[in-house]
Amino acid sequence: MQYLFDENGRRYLDAFGGIATVCCGHCHPHVVDAIVNQTKRLQHSTILYLNHAIADLAEALANKLPGNLKVVFFTNSGTEANELAIMMARLYTGCHDIISLRNAYHGNAAGTMGATAQSNWKFNVIQSGVHHAINPDPYRGVFGSEGEKYAKDIQDLIQFGTSGNIAGFISEAIQGVGGIIELAPGYLPAAYNIIKKAGGLCIADEVQGGFGRTGSHFWGFENHGVVPDIVTMAKGIGNGIPLGAVITTPEIAEVLTRRNYFNTFGGNPVCTAAGLAVLNVIEKEKLQDNAFVVGSYLKERLIALKDKHDLIGDVRGRGLMLGVELVTDHELKTPAKLETLHLLDQMKEIGVLVGKGGFYGNVFRITPPLCFTTEDADFLVDAMDYTMSKM
Ligand code: PLP
Repeated sequence: MQYLFDENGRRYLDAFGGIATVCCGHCHPHVVDAIVNQTKRLQHSTILYLNHAIADLAEALANKLPGNLKVVFFTNSGTEANELAIMMARLYTGCHDIISLRNAYHGNAAGTMGATAQSNWKFNVIQSGVHHAINPDPYRGVFGSEGEKYAKDIQDLIQFGTSGNIAGFISEAIQGVGGIIELAPGYLPAAYNIIKKAGGLCIADEVQGGFGRTGSHFWGFENHGVVPDIVTMAKGIGNGIPLGAVITTPEIAEVLTRRNYFNTFGGNPVCTAAGLAVLNVIEKEKLQDNAFVVGSYLKERLIALKDKHDLIGDVRGRGLMLGVELVTDHELKTPAKLETLHLLDQMKEIGVLVGKGGFYGNVFRITPPLCFTTEDADFLVDAMDYTMSKM
């Protein structure tokens, strides 16, 4: 179900999906049943005592990944998943330097807040060993859509800011919090090449873009033809249940077997049972295909809306991970911050919930449940059109 209801019973079309999280829809009966049944059987055991709820999801997730990405660690959130991935890269390589992208969001604990590169998400952070590369942002970036040109900055960071060897590189395929920014084509393959040459590991943050959201592929990184060394995930994995995971190769995972790494709730069986149900629902209900079909339709309608309203500077994204950037001046790309806030309020009045993001807070983030329909897409676009016409 793609609706939320307030305390007066008023219905809202949820085009934000609990921040790209509720991928199967709210209170999906199959996911709810899995949670209830598992709660009755075994509520908690820790991963010290392996059981089917944990092992079955680990196996199903590993089967979704390419290459030798076969070892799964469960966490409770995306932040924890990225913290673990960064720690693994440091342990495995024996190096400390990490490269992430400007404008990225990777979490809010010590290491991940360092990797996050937006001032409004960083407080009192010790910026230990993290270097931020120029963002390959086709709309605002200096090189437009020429991905390989941006990648040169990674080479410079390594050359001038590190000893020459690094621990790794972390990036989303489409920046979510950053304002639904699709990395310029060609960037990730070029970046991965440079990182590998410097001895680093490539970490794909699939916290928002995974689980079929981009429509064309199950994982966001697959849209760029790269294979990461470590993949992190959360949000969509549990349809709203606190669950995250890090998946890597046996060779890299081995670095943790020599240490006392532990996470009490990571792999909680109720959460992993929800995770397995989510994978089943995505497959049975062909939600990835739906994200592709409805997402393509919605994007087309949004592009048409851009021709009608000057306020829309850019429409971008894939599948059901779409962004609409609002500007008051097309040439200067002046962020329409207040207008964005006003429009969000107005759309809520009509009964449509959309997220907001981007460094300037001027991007509509459209990341609904993957069961969104073309009728929902029409309602959303009509609501935008109507509210913009009244500006
Ligand atoms: N990585 C990305 C790309 C995210 O969008 C987020 C959260 O929005 C995180 C990591 C952190 O996940 P969590 O909020 O579950 O800690």
